Amino acid sequence: MMIGTVEALELVLLHGAELVETIEIDPKDALDYVLAKDVISSIDMPPFRQSAMDGYALNIWDRSKYTLIGEIQAGGDQNPELMPGQAVRIFTGAAVPDSATAVVMQERVSVEGNRLTLNIPVHVEMNIRPKGEQIKRGAIALFAGTTIKGAHIGFLAGLGVTKIRVCEKPSIAIVVTGNELVAPGKPLSDGKIYESNGAMLKATLDGLGYKNATVRRLLDDYEETKKVLDKIVSNFDVVIVTGGVSVGEYDFVGKALHAIGVQEIFYKVRQKPGKPLFFGKKGQTSIVGLPGNPAAALTCFYIYVYPLLKKCEGAENPNLLAITLPLLMGCEVSGGDRAQFLKARINEIGVEILGGQSSAMVRAFGDANGLVFLPEHSTVFKKGELVKTILLPNT
Ligand code: AMP
Ligand code: MG
Repeated sequence: MMIGTVEALELVLLHGAELVETIEIDPKDALDYVLAKDVISSIDMPPFRQSAMDGYALNIWDRSKYTLIGEIQAGGDQNPELMPGQAVRIFTGAAVPDSATAVVMQERVSVEGNRLTLNIPVHVEMNIRPKGEQIKRGAIALFAGTTIKGAHIGFLAGLGVTKIRVCEKPSIAIVVTGNELVAPGKPLSDGKIYESNGAMLKATLDGLGYKNATVRRLLDDYEETKKVLDKIVSNFDVVIVTGGVSVGEYDFVGKALHAIGVQEIFYKVRQKPGKPLFFGKKGQTSIVGLPGNPAAALTCFYIYVYPLLKKCEGAENPNLLAITLPLLMGCEVSGGDRAQFLKARINEIGVEILGGQSSAMVRAFGDANGLVFLPEHSTVFKKGELVKTILLPNT
């Protein structure tokens, strides 16, 4: 039975097994990993009252003239006792003396020798970052389920964290099928095409931080398909097959998967591209049969495989972000009985649907930074109409 896109994605997320393996690593090696355990800050950040400006730290009194009694650089550990009316030269990031009640920017004062005159009114605690302003010691710095980005790595380094517990990455096999496929570099004889899904999916996975994917090639041979898939399914967490899942006489993937005991969760989705999408499970292993056509394979990869991988890692929010944007031009689509994912380019004012939407043509995908989702049963879309647009990662 054919199901809709929403149900298909729900089933993928429901059955995508969360991997239990976790590892402890240095945050600087943790880019794109999903955090398995909350990180608790062991320090206050900033660790002391910190000057936010290059200027002067003062003990405020009721006059505008102050006496300078010293200097504190960033990193310095001085803590001079300031009487009301006294000030010290101070620099951004330096520890503000306990007795100072404000920092004034150097541009807002006049200085002659050790005499400082304020040119603006000052108030208590101005330009002082309170101790623990960003985070307090003992508080949760990052929650389990966070996918680690560069900013997180910087934040954790700033807290002095040297070990975090992350989810092990799923092991991934990409299996490309088809007698017509020839590896680039070899001559192209009649009837053959170059194999491109393997390199495309491998590179896309690499860019998303899944660097361990292996690519295997299969001929359209039932016994061979069965034998190889059996071995691969028992050795990997996620198996991505492209091609051979359709209804042709030589599409052996579905049959072979059933024969080796893979439980079909769904086969066929009311969508374009990617109608013959297969999703199944055997034990903890998830198996996705993507269409062979390259653009369809990549679309289904982003819509279903990306969330599946994130789910396996226990990510807080496995789906790609979708936003609502105005169409920059009207469009008419055929096949209104199926939802459509269209390669699109988002800019400052809306979203443009790109030319070259055929499943076989992957060229336009290079220009795409989004996929416009058009629901079933609607065929005419006017300029300015709001459409759901899925943001593609930059890989
Ligand atoms: P299939 O799903 O096996 O019927 O394949 C659908 C179309 O995608 C056919 O035109 C195939 O030649 C093409 N195709 C399948 N696998 C690949 C691949 N790995 N690289 C490039 N094209 C492919
Ligand atoms: Mg094929």
